[in-house]
Amino acid sequence: MKFDWLIVGAGFTGSVLAERIASQLKQTVLIVEQRPHLGGNAYDYYDDHGVLVHQYGPHIFHTNAQYVWDYLAQFTQWRSYYHRVLAVVSGKLVPVPFNLNSLYALFPPRYADKLAQQLIEHYGFNVKVPILRIRDTASSDDLKLLAEYIYEHVFHHYTVKQWGLKPEELSPSVTARVPIYVSYDDRYFQDTFQGLPKQGYTRLFQNLLNHPNIKVLLNTSYQEVMQEIPYQRLIFTGQIDEFFEHLHGDLPYRSLHFKFIHTEQEQFQAVGTVNYPNEYTYTRTTEFKHLTGQREYGSTYIEEYPQPYRRGENLPYYPIPRDEYRALYKKYEAEAEKLKGRVFFAGRLADYQYYNMDQAVARALSLFEKEIVRSG
Ligand SMILES: Cc1cc2nc3c(=O)[nH]c(=O)nc-3n(C[C@H](O)[C@H](O)[C@H](O)COP(=O)(O)OP(=O)(O)OC[C@H]3O[C@@H](n4cnc5c(N)ncnc54)[C@H](O)[C@@H]3O)c2cc1C
Repeated sequence: MKFDWLIVGAGFTGSVLAERIASQLKQTVLIVEQRPHLGGNAYDYYDDHGVLVHQYGPHIFHTNAQYVWDYLAQFTQWRSYYHRVLAVVSGKLVPVPFNLNSLYALFPPRYADKLAQQLIEHYGFNVKVPILRIRDTASSDDLKLLAEYIYEHVFHHYTVKQWGLKPEELSPSVTARVPIYVSYDDRYFQDTFQGLPKQGYTRLFQNLLNHPNIKVLLNTSYQEVMQEIPYQRLIFTGQIDEFFEHLHGDLPYRSLHFKFIHTEQEQFQAVGTVNYPNEYTYTRTTEFKHLTGQREYGSTYIEEYPQPYRRGENLPYYPIPRDEYRALYKKYEAEAEKLKGRVFFAGRLADYQYYNMDQAVARALSLFEKEIVRSG
């Protein structure tokens, strides 16, 4: 049988494209996925203790794009959930991103009052102000000191652990984004729509791909079958440098190691995630019951250990945000351009771009509407 489309990868990008092509264009799709499961990095499963966990780190869905939320709502019900994160700073648990509540968690009430008042006076209420802007331009010494304190104790060490690089070694846009949120809203995200699939991500993917025009081959890499499977056109959501056999060199990534720990405790920590900018070699711990709302006795949490990515040994998680690597990616993009119309590249690995899940879905929906439908 000749398939209209071969799609490489069953994460959000590949699965949404498969669903659109099968249901809207009535064409046939074969997805090949090298892992033994659907869902890419969003895959979840019940562990030996009956706790629903995320194999590749905590995934919280959040978006301002109603069309993305509504599109996925055809395949899942949502459990409303607002993520909260605390960071251990100077021995105290402080809400992050840093906001007005964080001042009261860290400082004596009268000093916190003073800082809060100054922040509101200088910048207004409910606004996110980049820390570097406060540090470099504030007229008040108190605010400058505050910005320096947060930069050093909350941001700097966490960044070094996360990336193995100092903030100044990353693309300036990364540091420029770190804000103080002049607000009492201590949710980690402020998006209009936030939640998790009620029955988990894996079920959402099963529903997305439950179409007679879609076949899925798990445990199968593209390289194994590329010569054998007849197809008309290809969508590739894997690493773009791998597709071109590393012609221009390797695109660097940061990898992670996750340690899953089960405890008989009802609750391990007060909120979904606790960050450790300064202590330990892991960056953060996440307790899944907060995210999923499960009420089982006992609980499972993970510790995240960032590590260098080594091809063939561990997984590529985050493209490293440095301008020189973006420039290297552009060489691969130029190669991809030569295959335009026959091979489509999309997703966090093929675009060498960190996407939140909603952005991966939006990218797939847009590719479908703008290029695939139009190309006939
Ligand atoms: C630790 C961590 C936490 C995150 N948390 C959040 C969060 O809270 N909220 C959020 O919105 N986003 C989060 N994300 C981002 C989210 O994981 C991505 O948006 C999403 O995975 C992108 O989907 P994708 O399909 O592009 O890539 P992927 O999910 O990586 O899917 C690509 C698939 O292609 C397969 N593949 C690759 N090469 C080949 C090949 N040669 N042959 C066959 N198969 C292949 C891979 O095995 C993979 O399954 C997080 C990411 C990480 C790393």
